[in-house]
Amino acid sequence: MKTFLSIAERHKAKLVAKGKSMVSEEIHLNHHLEERGIEAIETDLGEYILQLARETPSHLIIPAIHKNKSQIAALFEEDAGRPFEPETKVLAAYARQKLRNYFLEADIGLTGCNFGVAESGSITLVSNEGNGRMVSTLPKVHVVVMGMERLVPTFEDLEVVLNMLARSATGQKLTTYTSILTGPKQEGDLDGPEELHVIILDNGRSNQLGDPIFQEVLNCIRCAACLNVCPVYRHVGGHTYGTVYSGPIGAVLTPLLQQDMKEAGTLAYASSLCGACYEACPVKIPLHDMLVHLRHRKVKMKLTSLPERIAFKSYATMFGNITLYKLATRSAYYAQLPLVREGKIKSGPPPLSGWTQSRFMPMLPKRSFRDRWAELQQELAQRKTDGAAPNGTRKEEKR
Ligand code: SF4
Repeated sequence: MKTFLSIAERHKAKLVAKGKSMVSEEIHLNHHLEERGIEAIETDLGEYILQLARETPSHLIIPAIHKNKSQIAALFEEDAGRPFEPETKVLAAYARQKLRNYFLEADIGLTGCNFGVAESGSITLVSNEGNGRMVSTLPKVHVVVMGMERLVPTFEDLEVVLNMLARSATGQKLTTYTSILTGPKQEGDLDGPEELHVIILDNGRSNQLGDPIFQEVLNCIRCAACLNVCPVYRHVGGHTYGTVYSGPIGAVLTPLLQQDMKEAGTLAYASSLCGACYEACPVKIPLHDMLVHLRHRKVKMKLTSLPERIAFKSYATMFGNITLYKLATRSAYYAQLPLVREGKIKSGPPPLSGWTQSRFMPMLPKRSFRDRWAELQQELAQRKTDGAAPNGTRKEEKR
């Protein structure tokens, strides 16, 4: 942040035109600029919509995925002071016309970086809108804010990750704009910034280096495929997570970057552990395993509530002792009876009430699975003694 502010100060910047950058969201850059009287304008269409709505992104790739055309038209109406048809072309045309001046007037263009290439010092911007190219070429100063894990050694490596990113993020073979920028404008160049600064951000990432469980999270290329397939994300949406990064990757990344297991650590429970994220992830980060490890870490740090700890301790003791298990399953049948109506538990006491608020709970049967299994074994043994064939017909009858 300090580095960026010192560049802005040196250039007496008043207006910053921004390309899409989740890293800048991570460090709340807009907020810091606003505090210093510097206007930051988002030029990615989704981000621009969210800036007007004063909201944060709800998806890594499609930040305004939660907004429909009518909602966007209402925002533009408020901004322009005139009515808008909720038509994509009309809305995009308004944003395009509005943003054009910002590209031309901005003192600094700021972008994220999809990948940096170490062998040449190049940065790669991947986008389906032309704003990335405008922001990185029209203002006199271009500042790139890049997460430290975005560096690949060579162009050969870049080819691999670019292929994976486009396919996993949007199902394209190649995004509309893939820009590779190496240094500022050179003599003879028609366009480009006079100054190019690359700020490499750590912000908790290096803490994961060497960690046998979590280092792999640094392989993430932010394609959002894990969000798209996650049954939890698909139901609750990105804002429910209350963090910059949402979905399975957000649930793992946020507590690690913030080193906060108390608040952010609860995100590890926002998962059914179905493993769909792992299946979809192009770099095969075992997010579901990491979520279990985060839960374990939270328990080990004694950050779970006392009733929860007691409940799970009792649960473990019961499952570790067959006599206790039998006793518990038998007595559970009788304990539930006062709550049962028409064969169902429709309203349970806390913490069960959280479940029964929205659905019924089936009553526990009188005979447990173990009882039924034992009976079945006895029945089979009896049949064998009686000489019954496997399909249940008697041998004599078959003959
Ligand atoms: S964890 Fe995998 S699927 Fe999710 S954003 Fe990162 S690379 Fe994509």
